[in-house]
Order: sequence, then structure tokens, then C-alpha cells
Amino acid sequence: MRTPLIAGNWKMYKTVAEAVELVEALLKEVEVGYADDRQVLICPPFTALYPLAPLLAESPVALGAQNMYPASQGAFTGEVSPVMLQEIGCSFVILGHSERRQVFGETDELISKKVQTAIDYGLTPVLCIGETKPQRDGGEAEAVTLGQLRAGLGGLAAEQIQDIVIAYEPVWAIGTGDTATPADAQAMHAAIRGALSSHYGPETADAVRILYGGSVKPDNVDTLMAQPDIDGALVGGASLQAESFLRIVNFR
Ligand code: PEP
Repeated sequence: MRTPLIAGNWKMYKTVAEAVELVEALLKEVEVGYADDRQVLICPPFTALYPLAPLLAESPVALGAQNMYPASQGAFTGEVSPVMLQEIGCSFVILGHSERRQVFGETDELISKKVQTAIDYGLTPVLCIGETKPQRDGGEAEAVTLGQLRAGLGGLAAEQIQDIVIAYEPVWAIGTGDTATPADAQAMHAAIRGALSSHYGPETADAVRILYGGSVKPDNVDTLMAQPDIDGALVGGASLQAESFLRIVNFR
């Protein structure tokens, strides 16, 4: 049985003061009416991770980073290591987000190295994969997405990927208000699970959570979450306000 995961990707939004305010608002509600049949994760900017960690330590909300460098330490100016993230209480890390791929030129090879290193240091990767609009229009959506999946998981063994989280995020749906239909999202999630099953076996494929991301909002989360292979959501814009994120967390 896969526990649904609702994850907020705050991107480069929220100062420390704003982040603390949002977390306090989330915790007030989560602690009152929290359904423990689901897991909640927030991924704030690096600067807010350390001050938020003690607020979240005794709460049901997990803390994650949006990126990391695949080494424990070293001369990598401007980067943050998995050891540093672990030390301050992060348990997840988003890797391979389309903004990292497109704006920062991250390759499948680098992302695969990051996934492997995150696992080595006890962080759960949230590996993002998904096609662009021209790729979808050209009939390549599945080939591209599954190609990124295979490349991102590289040489990992079945027991290493059981706890990994995959996020299918069609690039054309991110931040655009243009969500994949529940049927299209389900079809891709089923294809992802099928690919995992052929490579790692059905038991492992059944254990892996596959999130949908791309303009998830309070008014579309319920139909998306009703799909059998959608195990949660990676939420950008709608995770920046307590009310909309809480409604998504409380999907029905
Ligand atoms: C994201 O950044 O991962 C994302 C899905 O953003 P949005 O929900 O704003 O489309």
C-alpha cells in the first residue's frame, strides 16, 4: 500500500520570515485536522531550511531541499551537499526538476549521479521527469519521459529504488495553469510503473510512489488523486499559500 505524498516545491519564493509565517499557518491546521493516511513534505529555498527544521521536527510535515550537489564536501562554490542537508533534518531532495534541466542545463548524467548520491547519504530523491510541449505534440511524450526515468535511475538496484519518489511533471503544465487531464496523467503514470516493473520487478514497481506535478490546484486535485497510479502531487504555485496547499493536502 502506497501512502500518498503531497509535496510543496516553493522554488525561489519566501524569505525566512515569510517561510516561518507560512509554516506556522500550515502547522496550525495540520496539527488539528491532519489525516495520517497521507504524508506531507515541504521544500523551501536553502536559506529557510535551517530555521524551519526545529519548527517541523515534532510535526507530521517532512522537510526537503530542492537540489543538492553529488558530493559530501569539496571545492564546489555555491553548492550544498547531502551531508549538510541531512545534518539539518532534511529527509527528501527534489532532483532533476525541469527548471534545473532547462535553466541550469542539468543533464541526465548529472541527475543520475545526484540520485545515487542522495540515496548513499540517506536522503529520499524526488526524481522529476516529463516531456515538453513540442515533444508531446510530436508523439514523443512517453519515450522522453521513460528515457529520463531510465537515465535518472542509472545503475540502481531494486532495493535502492523502493523508497524513491518519481514525479511526473509535464513541462508544459508547470506554472501554466494547463494541467494534464486525469486520464493522460494516469496513462503516463501507468507507463512509468510498467517500465519500473519490467526493470525491477512488480513488487518494487508497486512500492514506488509516483507523484503528478503541473498546475495542481484545489479544484483539480481530487480527480487527479482518484487515478490508481497517481500517488500524490508535487505542487509549485499552490503550495505558497496555506489555504490552497492545505486543501490539496486534504484531497478527498
Ligand atoms: C513545480 O514547480 O514542480 C510545479 C509543479 O509547479 P506548479 O504547481 O506551479 O505548476
